[in-house]
Amino acid sequence: MTSWTGSTGSREGTSRACIRTLKCDLCGRPSISKELPTGRPLCEKHFLKSIWKRASEEIKGIKGPILLSVSGGKDSLVLMDVMSNIYDPSELVALTVVEGAEGYEREEERRNACLLAKKLGIEYNYVTFKDLYGKKLSEMVKVGKQRPCTYCGVFRRRAVEMVALKLGIRNVATGHTLDDEVHTSFLNLLRGDWDGIAKLAHGRLKPLRRVFEKEVAVYAYIRKFPLQKKECPYLDLNPSLRSRVRVKLFDLVEENPSKLYKWSMKMKELRRESEERGTCERCGFPTSPGRRICRACELAEEVGAKVPTIDEAEKITLRSC
Ligand SMILES: [Zn+2]
Ligand SMILES: [Zn+2]
Repeated sequence: MTSWTGSTGSREGTSRACIRTLKCDLCGRPSISKELPTGRPLCEKHFLKSIWKRASEEIKGIKGPILLSVSGGKDSLVLMDVMSNIYDPSELVALTVVEGAEGYEREEERRNACLLAKKLGIEYNYVTFKDLYGKKLSEMVKVGKQRPCTYCGVFRRRAVEMVALKLGIRNVATGHTLDDEVHTSFLNLLRGDWDGIAKLAHGRLKPLRRVFEKEVAVYAYIRKFPLQKKECPYLDLNPSLRSRVRVKLFDLVEENPSKLYKWSMKMKELRRESEERGTCERCGFPTSPGRRICRACELAEEVGAKVPTIDEAEKITLRSC
């Protein structure tokens, strides 16, 4: 299980040969993996069912079209596959945002995402920073003072918001896993950002929120999804607090999956007073409380890019594969 776990599986857990000899807790057939929240071994069929069940619980009560934000990496391919098994595929639209990082145009990921979407009967589109903002991420990074992840995060988020608006879709789902949630909550804890922790429980749909990164890797292995070969070129540049938290928490996830699972579930119960959001004076999109100009407009000004207004968002270019 070393080779295909990619960037997240830097260290090997239980050896595959050992797991193989175990029998499925439910049917007695050879097990493929443990169900991490419970630790019980499951066969391929029951493992997939376990993932689908947890994902269904996350999207309970949701109706109508869902926009799936897919990078084309392993997690997002799993997201599409899981969703097509628990939701009507004709109600799903997949979207990839191509940032245009230095030498990284996501061609391969886009192709993988597009091929899978077609196979599953999901509509697929992509948008680019260049089309939307007039500048690629690499061009922004050259002139901007912030770290690449700042521009990437803010403009990716806005791109997804604009597409959802254009298509009239209220619900957006991302491929964040339980590990991602735990990392983000730890990160907010370290920064003393309580509001950030509460925020995690709300907002976008995360169907894989109850699924561990390792289980996503097993799912991708079962489905024979291709490995992501290229990674974001800015990843190693100035390792962020997030990537350090990720490394430190790896052992914790290994040792205490059920505890982390419970913690992640508890986080969802946090309630947050709904704050009055403002409207950006330039683009008309919602702003954080107390802001006149939104973060996207602020960053765009810094790097000489342009943010479409809420009216212009209706006319943005959607590309298909
Ligand atoms: Zn079984
Ligand atoms: Zn704005």
